[in-house]
Order: sequence, then structure tokens, then C-alpha cells
Amino acid sequence: MTPVPTPPDPFSKLVSDLEDYVAFETEEGRSSVEIDLTVIAELGQPPPLSASAAVPASDVPDKETAPMETAAWTDLDAVAASIADCTQCGLHATRTNTVPGEGHSQPEIMFVGEAPGADEDAQGRPFVGRAGKLLTKMIEAMGFQREEVFIANICKCRPPENRKPEPAEMEACIPYLKAQIALLKPKVIVCLGGTATEGLLGLTGITKVRGNWHTFEGIDVMPTFHPSYLLRKPGAKHEVWADLQAVLKHIDRPVPEY
Ligand code: SF4
Repeated sequence: MTPVPTPPDPFSKLVSDLEDYVAFETEEGRSSVEIDLTVIAELGQPPPLSASAAVPASDVPDKETAPMETAAWTDLDAVAASIADCTQCGLHATRTNTVPGEGHSQPEIMFVGEAPGADEDAQGRPFVGRAGKLLTKMIEAMGFQREEVFIANICKCRPPENRKPEPAEMEACIPYLKAQIALLKPKVIVCLGGTATEGLLGLTGITKVRGNWHTFEGIDVMPTFHPSYLLRKPGAKHEVWADLQAVLKHIDRPVPEY
């Protein structure tokens, strides 16, 4: 008699998902993760007694820091110059280089990620590590060269140990991205990953949000998974490719079939 397969029990599934999540965060170079205490409470577990599991507290924007001189941002170089001198949040203290972003000055598509990692911090350029190489392949698969699009991040300085930027850090840095978007006027912004989507659109839950159109300051935004996630979960490439195909259709570009 053929044995009846046992359905996966919910606890094993939860553990498996957690293992995937921790492996993904580790691959991203993070040594700590955020824990939602409400979820723990719903699971019937007491909340941790100490804050040792929490992401290290970040410096909030320095209230005594001079306000940004946004009026001077008449071109991308002026924005980059302000970023290079910026001390609006605590990330300035540990950066090697600022990473303002790079690409075409009149792009059809702008890609926005979370924050620089180690390679980007060392070179002062966005998306130059393993995830960056995959992003370049994704751009080329869409029929563009990397130089034809613009690539930037929500935060322009690397968070220590590649941790997720704090909301205060994203808030402090967002004026630079807003200025870049206003100058670039892309037809479409592709938001790479949950943190970028949260920082730009204020939306959480990338799995649900991706694949649907949103707007930021009048520009259509397509959230999708971060290339780092694809390195961990190659199976999700189909979903990302579907999102990028939607972008190509949206801007009346040919949609390559693979
Ligand atoms: S992350 Fe942004 S706001 Fe913070 S110091 Fe760097 S450029 Fe300034």
C-alpha cells in the first residue's frame, strides 16, 4: 500500500521559514534582527526581558545639525556634494564613502534599494557586490545597459554590519532621494526589497506589495524583491521577472521572452 504523505506540520514550516529568514539576513551581513513583540505575544511566549535581541539603537538625526540646503540642489552633482558632507544621522560616523547613486541623468527607469553594503561603502558606488551583479543582469535582461538607468538607495551611507536602516535614518536621508527623483524624472521607479518599499512608500510586507503599481510624488512605482533575496531564493526570479515585464509594458518597451 502506498504510504499517504504526511502534511508538513505548522511548527516545522515556521521553523523552516525562520531558518530561511536568518540565512538570508546572514548572507546580507547582518548579525541582528528585529523582533516584533506583538508576534511573540500572539504565539503565547513572554516578551524578552532585555533589549539584547533588538537592533542596536541608532542615532536619530542630530537636531543641532544645520538644515539641508535643498534650494542649492539644482543638479545631481549638487545633491551628491551635499551627501558627501552630510552628518544628518549617525551613519556618517561609520561610513567610508557616501554612495549617492549613479546612472543616466534622464532615465526611463530608476532602481531604488535599501542602503550601501560593504562593497558599495568601499567603492562609493551602488550595487557593485554580488547582488549588484545580479541587478546588472536583470537590467540587461530588460533590454537596457546599466548606464541607461539610474541606481540609488534610500540611505546613502552604510549601516554598521549591514543592519536594516532605522526609520529615523531613512527619514533623515529621504530628502536626497526625493531631490534625485525630482531631477531625474524617471517614468518608473523600481523599489528593490521590503526596506526600500517601506522607506519610499511607507508600505510593509513586500510579498504582498510587490507586483502592484503604487505612486511616489506622481511617479509610478513597482516594488519587487531585492536581488540579494534572489541569490538566496532563486525560485523567486519568476516573480521578479513578471514585475520587470510589467515595468517594460508600462513604458511601452519590448518585453523579451525567456
Ligand atoms: S545616511 Fe543619509 S542622512 Fe545619514 S549621514 Fe548619510 S547621507 Fe546623511
